[in-house]
Amino acid sequence: MAIYTRTFNQEDFSTPRKAADTVKRKALEFGADAVGIGNIERWAGAPLQMDPKQIMPECKSIIGMVFRVERGSLRGIEEGTYFSNYSAMGYGGITYLYMPLTVINLSKFIEDNGAEAIPMGHQSDWRGIDNEGFARENYSRPVREGQATPDVMIQLRIAAYLCGLGEIGFSKMFLSPQFGPRCRVGIILSDLELEPDPIYNGPKLCNRCMACVRACPGHAFSTEKTVKVNLGGREVEWSDLNMGKCGFAFVGAKHSGVEQKTSYLEGNPESVPGEWSPFYRKPHNLYNTGQAVCGARGCTRACMISLEARGVLQNTFRQKFRRRPEWRVDWSTGPKYSKGTVFRNKKAGAVDAD
Ligand code: SF4
Ligand code: SF4
Repeated sequence: MAIYTRTFNQEDFSTPRKAADTVKRKALEFGADAVGIGNIERWAGAPLQMDPKQIMPECKSIIGMVFRVERGSLRGIEEGTYFSNYSAMGYGGITYLYMPLTVINLSKFIEDNGAEAIPMGHQSDWRGIDNEGFARENYSRPVREGQATPDVMIQLRIAAYLCGLGEIGFSKMFLSPQFGPRCRVGIILSDLELEPDPIYNGPKLCNRCMACVRACPGHAFSTEKTVKVNLGGREVEWSDLNMGKCGFAFVGAKHSGVEQKTSYLEGNPESVPGEWSPFYRKPHNLYNTGQAVCGARGCTRACMISLEARGVLQNTFRQKFRRRPEWRVDWSTGPKYSKGTVFRNKKAGAVDAD
């Protein structure tokens, strides 16, 4: 017997077109739901801290991949009974488990054939800039003159746009023609020259319906203040999202302005649960970042409902998503538990209602 190993340099990467076709087929095989390619020239003018060439100076291509969030993963939050699934399977699990496997496998395939590939799921926690793009004080320092401060962060939504995978909506969410806002994005940087795909020019996805703005529990969207950027020669505009407000509401928290005996968020004594959270205290994170108690009520669910109603998404369903009126928790009243809810210290079958 002999050592079994992978085979090397067997693929025909002789032209950018052949290489792109092979790489894209492999991406789907490895678990991506859509894949597109952007040439590095589209990143010309990227801010220093977000410039892929700071990471790989010889980078020629960026492979962008869309990973869908299953619509079913949002069902439990929509019904108000099963919140962890979206945080685990639709958020942290895709980000920290599924997507890395795909980008790593595809990178190995590219490297088996003699080109270098950097697999990037979503690991931007070490970035040298804050949410507003400013350098973090006393965090890290450049290692050579003229270089960025570690870590450089590639904006994944912008990458997906520049790879031709879809639009950036008013909500700042990436919208794909297959799934709308139900997407997470992974990328690979490579020094392999691949034929690029055109910037998305399909049916208009975001029509400025403002459903995202109306449904966001954190009132995080500004309708007056927007951000305009030039991406690949086109002007793209989105709402100047208040990340602080989003981050607070995202985990189900609301400001009360009054110190609480038991606060909703640890370290924030006046926080209480919002009407969009049924939890007395914020549940712990799942897969590191999974704490999406708001269930993306505005930026994903409301947007998806709007896009599905307009018939612009390719992934269609037999039944519409919203089937019952939206729920809200009235925290000014006590809970009314339903028949079948049994607490340990009550007689079996007893109902703890008032
Ligand atoms: S909800 Fe409407 S305005 Fe907001 S991103 Fe989606 S399509 Fe655009
Ligand atoms: S995650 Fe929730 S709070 Fe944040 S923008 Fe989306 S809907 Fe608003």
